[in-house]
Amino acid sequence: MNTEEKIQQLRDELNNHNYNYYVLDNATISDFDFDIKLKELEKLEKENPIFFDANSPTQRVGGTVTKNFKTVVHKNRMYSLDNSYSKEDLFDWEKRVEKVLGSTDLEFTCELKFDGASINLTYENGQFIKAVTRGDGFQGDEVTNNVKTIRSIPLSIKKDFISDFEMRGEIILPLEGFIKMNEERLENGEEEYRNPRNTASGSLKLQDSSEVSKRPLDCLLYQVVTLERKYKTHFESLENARKVGFKVPKSIKLAKTIDEVYNFVNYWDANRHELPYETDGIVIKVNNLQQQEELGYTAKAPRWAIAYKFKAEQVSTILNEITYQVGRTGAITPVANLNPVQLAGTTVKRASLHNADQIDKLDIREKDTVFVEKGGEIIPKIIAVDFTKRLETSIPTIYATNCPECNTALVRTEGDAKHYCPNEFGCAPQITGRIQHFISRKAMDIDGLGGETVDLLRKEGLIQNYADLYDLKVEQVIPLERMAEKSAQNMITGIEKSKEIPFEKVLFALGIRFVGETVAKKLAKHFKSIDNLMKATFEELVKADEIGDRIAQSIIDFSNNLENMQLINRLRSYGLRLEVSAESLENQTDKLLGQVFVVSGVFHQLSRNELKKAIEDNGGKVSASISKKTNFIVAGDNMGPSKLTKAQDLGVSIISEQDFIDKIN
Ligand code: AMP
Ligand code: ZN
Repeated sequence: MNTEEKIQQLRDELNNHNYNYYVLDNATISDFDFDIKLKELEKLEKENPIFFDANSPTQRVGGTVTKNFKTVVHKNRMYSLDNSYSKEDLFDWEKRVEKVLGSTDLEFTCELKFDGASINLTYENGQFIKAVTRGDGFQGDEVTNNVKTIRSIPLSIKKDFISDFEMRGEIILPLEGFIKMNEERLENGEEEYRNPRNTASGSLKLQDSSEVSKRPLDCLLYQVVTLERKYKTHFESLENARKVGFKVPKSIKLAKTIDEVYNFVNYWDANRHELPYETDGIVIKVNNLQQQEELGYTAKAPRWAIAYKFKAEQVSTILNEITYQVGRTGAITPVANLNPVQLAGTTVKRASLHNADQIDKLDIREKDTVFVEKGGEIIPKIIAVDFTKRLETSIPTIYATNCPECNTALVRTEGDAKHYCPNEFGCAPQITGRIQHFISRKAMDIDGLGGETVDLLRKEGLIQNYADLYDLKVEQVIPLERMAEKSAQNMITGIEKSKEIPFEKVLFALGIRFVGETVAKKLAKHFKSIDNLMKATFEELVKADEIGDRIAQSIIDFSNNLENMQLINRLRSYGLRLEVSAESLENQTDKLLGQVFVVSGVFHQLSRNELKKAIEDNGGKVSASISKKTNFIVAGDNMGPSKLTKAQDLGVSIISEQDFIDKIN
């Protein structure tokens, strides 16, 4: 085999694995082996630049930066859809269609209406050429480099399909990925994203495509646009599109009558919450492509299709009071306290109002009657005020000017949606929040001390910051409410033991804004000690892997604060690890590179944390839950039965503690 053939073979193979994994949901290679092949291909391509191909699987990781997205005119206009809300609407639509066609010989496809950002993918000679957003329907923005990072989109189609076509679809952010992104944001002290749809469309417009490649985006396809007459029906064209590599959801169904269509509607109205992504309705299309052509378009939508919108479950209730919550970073969140009301199976008492702008936009006031909705979304939200029920005595909401906890005047920096309480070291929820973060599992992991006890200790005046924990004595703790001698002793032991926690975790525990778990690891690896990090200049900081301006500035702000420096000196005096240990540098290997582990149960030779550390030190990854990506479960005693079944279902290897130790030695 010559080099060109070798390169081609690797590309085909990798494309095929991507397809199996991202489209069919069926892994055919381990992440580890995939990475090896990808690296091999990268190397060959680098050595042989004449065989460069913009559609090679190596091009998916991104790296290009787009400052201004080019406007591109659509070859075929992207229409919107007419809406329907009842069975009668559907019958009326059927009648209109029959009238135009002069025939009652009809068949329909029923599809889910995916809630994301519409995209048009152009292919020529089976090669992916460009991706353009819907824009105003006539022209959109070219986002090719960003879209290319979505692994479920095929970049070249080898098999028998049509050669020149456009694929229409929706870029979505599945719920699991969305929730995970938000957990990370919270951890970093950032504001949460509101909903998956806006986050998906926002992701397409990120300037750095390598950022996009990290987001768990997906693309679901629903229409093939082409002049080639290969397929007679919409259904057939989609089924074939799926076969050659496109992610066309299997939920698509054929229906002969509106009654059958309506069964589909009812089924998904009841079951849509089980889907891994959001849907806000159904789309019904005339199946025969010849008939579609005869029907044509109105000024804004095809006559051959109609959307059926699910009713978002909505109730009205009274807003009793707007209160303000202070987060550990000092961010203020206004909260609507509602008269408890039943909604989509749960009792809703509170809803976030996000920030001052949102309150202005809704013109929401205390004692108003408000509409609360739970659509596809998980979190209830207030849609609007019922102005017909507004009391005459009602007065406009004046946003809090002072912190509800410490009365310090709130500040709002330009560009920030939220107000902040600047009283970092004197504001109770910030103090408690920071200490709670410090002791949390992913940080100092202090056994025997919980979030409520932290609050109690602070109220009793025993701790004001995390360094104070290390001065606590058993005798001081025992007199506290509900504190037995044994638990007091456990707590002190737990605190003592935390002095062994490695530097990267201590760094995360400090709670520097935007320094989450992963960033802390990167910083620890790069700077090796807290002293190096605190001395680093802005320029030195941004040179480190994945450290941007915002993180760098936040570290500078932290190090410029004298109180923070005093805290660090105290932590040092208690013996906490403020630098990477020599042995940890020594013990690091690549033995488990690319392998994902889940740790479950009780162990004998190593503690859970030692086990996790051993995985990471050897280049492996630890994940909290079992998924298709998991390679091994290290099972101790009493591993949960549900985990066991899941592992067996997914075919994940289950190994013992001893197996693991043998593996790394
Ligand atoms: P609307 O924006 O409400 O006018 O609805 C039209 C949009 O629905 C289209 O631009 C598509 O982005 C989106 N859509 C989602 N799922 C489908 C589907 N299965 N078929 C057609 N359009 C869909
Ligand atoms: Zn405050």
